[in-house]
Amino acid sequence: MTTDRMLKFVGTEKRMPSKRDADERRADFGEIYAEFDAAGAAEQAGRCSQCGVPYCQVHCPLQNNIPDWLMLTAEGRLEEAYEISSATNNFPEICGRICPQDRLCEGNCVIEKGFKSVTIGSVEKYITETAFENGWVKPAKPVREREESVGIIGGGPGGLAAAEQLRKRGYQVHVYDRYDRMGGLMIYGIPNFKLEKDVVERRTALLADGGVQYHANTEIGRDVTLEDLRQRHGAVLIATGVYKARAMQCPGVGLDGIYDALDYLTASNRKGLGDAVPAFDDGTLDAKGKKIVVIGGGDTAMDCVRTAIRQGAEQVTCVYRRDKANMPGSQREVANAEEEGVTFEWLAAPEAFVGDGSVDGVRCQRIHLGVADATGRQAPQPIDGSSFTIDCDIAIKALGFDPEDLPGLFGAQDLKVSRWGTIGIDFKSMMTSLDGVFAAGDIVRGASLVVWAVRDGRDAADRIHGYLDAKAEAARSAA
Ligand code: FAD
Ligand code: SF4
Ligand code: SF4
Repeated sequence: MTTDRMLKFVGTEKRMPSKRDADERRADFGEIYAEFDAAGAAEQAGRCSQCGVPYCQVHCPLQNNIPDWLMLTAEGRLEEAYEISSATNNFPEICGRICPQDRLCEGNCVIEKGFKSVTIGSVEKYITETAFENGWVKPAKPVREREESVGIIGGGPGGLAAAEQLRKRGYQVHVYDRYDRMGGLMIYGIPNFKLEKDVVERRTALLADGGVQYHANTEIGRDVTLEDLRQRHGAVLIATGVYKARAMQCPGVGLDGIYDALDYLTASNRKGLGDAVPAFDDGTLDAKGKKIVVIGGGDTAMDCVRTAIRQGAEQVTCVYRRDKANMPGSQREVANAEEEGVTFEWLAAPEAFVGDGSVDGVRCQRIHLGVADATGRQAPQPIDGSSFTIDCDIAIKALGFDPEDLPGLFGAQDLKVSRWGTIGIDFKSMMTSLDGVFAAGDIVRGASLVVWAVRDGRDAADRIHGYLDAKAEAARSAA
């Protein structure tokens, strides 16, 4: 009986898959969590209380049918669990690894208060890894091929989720990316210790096996114009993400040795992939034996500090202007960083970078959190006379990202841009101001999450299908 295996949260404690010891983690870039075994996954899935109104599902951007796949896992029916979990998510093994579950599904699990949430993300990862091991994960196989083609700009999670959904419907799908590999920030932004690259490459290879055609090293706006793509394809999806690092206004910001977070992380990821990276190989972007200061309190900052630790930095300090409770990054990532030896300077803001030619310190001021503003967040106020300096050889700015300069980037002046600089779309049709050109992911929302990009990519694929179907119908009626 189903219920015999479920509702075990009172007697069974929450248990995550085992986490590698911090000393061991520091020495390599491997993922830090092991995987559940069958018994562990079934036991943890069985803690679910099968809520009538599952808040976990409501707060998952993909509205994953979590209670059902937890029940099937508890019963050992893993192929069915995979069927259900993959019906709403193109990359469940990736989301299971890197969603900030504490802010999404698990943070809203009803047993969280009192009993601690069900370990939803780890079970989702387990189900999909088991599916890969057993050969249940298959390339898209359309029932019938369609003549119409779709051009997708950007091979990140948004573009790839749309590509797979469109391919399943039989469209000829072409993904263009300016980089040499597909995957977007899943390849060049997010470090290995959160998401190993073969996990991403396994997916991009599967899409290619299903007939998605990749055009790497092709920058739209430089190598090919957006207009050319519109001529080539029945519809175009822009899923180019946001990459412009937010600037800092601070004396000394032009000194050598101060870098943007993504330059630092991309060099490290490329190195891990076996590429020659001159700016790393000559020591410029390598933290080994150096003192590192990272400025920012989001997940990108956490990725930088933890990368520096693994590169063998002598000392790693994170400076953030609010306190730990008010940082934007996931608390789980902060805990991991603390375990690995990162020092946090909470309630501190950089006042100036100091050094003669190259940076050798960051002068900071202590911060007092004042009255809450209209958004409810307390305004950081510098405390006079509280300056102190942290020595460093490299300073990394991790203050967030904005879109690159649109619409100039695509040479399309009639492409409407929102007041935040992102691409403006009609939220019902997901179409931009250009007929047949759609947009999805970070380039519409601003810097967000992989799971939201997947959601947007899937929605865009549905809208593109509707648009092309209507066009085909109109052509048939006119003939
Ligand atoms: P992207 O992943 O940015 O992909 C866009 C693609 O478009 C890129 O491959 C780019 O090369 C290509 N492109 C851009 N312009 C052009 C052009 N003109 N022509 C051709 N190609 C172009 N999210 C999580 O959920 N969990 C995490 O742990 C997490 N960690 C992160 C860590 C870091 C360091 C960063 C920077 C982000 C992190 N994110 C995380 C956020 C997440 O990676 C993004 O929200 C997500 O990748 C956005 O997907 P996307 O498809 O919209 O864009
Ligand atoms: Fe949770 Fe993310 Fe999986 Fe949704 S996709 S169930 S939010 S881990
Ligand atoms: Fe199960 Fe928690 Fe979801 Fe309820 S909210 S169905 S207990 S996972």
